[in-house]
Amino acid sequence: MRLILLGPPGAGKGTQATVLSETLKIPHISTGDIFRANIKGGTPLGLLAKSYIDSGKLVPDDVTIDIVANRLSDEDCASGFIMDGFPRTIPQAQMFDEMLGKLDRKVEAVINIIADDSIIIKRLSGRRMCSCGKTYHIANNPPKVEGKCDVCNSSLYIRDDDKEETIKERLKIYHEQTSPLVDYYQKKGLILNFDGTKPIEVTTREILDSLNNK
Ligand code: ADP
Ligand code: ADP
Ligand code: ZN
Repeated sequence: MRLILLGPPGAGKGTQATVLSETLKIPHISTGDIFRANIKGGTPLGLLAKSYIDSGKLVPDDVTIDIVANRLSDEDCASGFIMDGFPRTIPQAQMFDEMLGKLDRKVEAVINIIADDSIIIKRLSGRRMCSCGKTYHIANNPPKVEGKCDVCNSSLYIRDDDKEETIKERLKIYHEQTSPLVDYYQKKGLILNFDGTKPIEVTTREILDSLNNK
């Protein structure tokens, strides 16, 4: 399946993508994770992306499209993918459609996770990350041992952009540049809406059920 996860920062895209990727056996592609891995590795892409990410802005479209095109050419994407955090602008969505069109493929469903701004601020300020890609929340989804990843036992960290000021900027950018994508995909009949305030497992079940019924 070729899926996109849409929703504001903190809606639960990464959390759902991890489970969906395991269940549906398709790769989870997070542009945010790719940027963070590059920042950690000190690559030229990481250096460029860092200034945008730390200020809550979007990385330029041409840079982002290139990394997605590159990742899509990997063999594991033949079975499909779950895009998490991409596309985030109308030009990205248009270029993505073109890119898939050339491969005779298209997006099959867009999973839109809805959560309002007040809940997001609480979510992101309690978020804890692991470099293996797993995400936790100090109250809602804590690890078994405080500060350590359940999967790989690494120390958890707080993202530099999960500060209240940066969160507000990211939300503003979401409303201006990303939320128009709901309409874009609605017109193509691809949107499936989910209430992101329900417990994690409930939302996962609802997403899997609605994909089965498609
Ligand atoms: P996104 O990828 O959309 O930015 P995440 O999946 O990283 O969002 O989730 C943001 C934070 O909220 C994390 O700390 C995560 O553990 C927590 N979270 C995710 N889904 C839920 C949920 N349904 N209920 C409560 N907390 C959640
Ligand atoms: P969240 O789900 O919490 O918003 P992500 O991990 O998806 O965070 O993204 C973190 C940051 O990486 C974004 O705020 C943005 O700066 C950058 N980024 C990720 N995906 C994209 C994209 N598709 N286009 C532009 N910038 C992106
Ligand atoms: Zn881990």
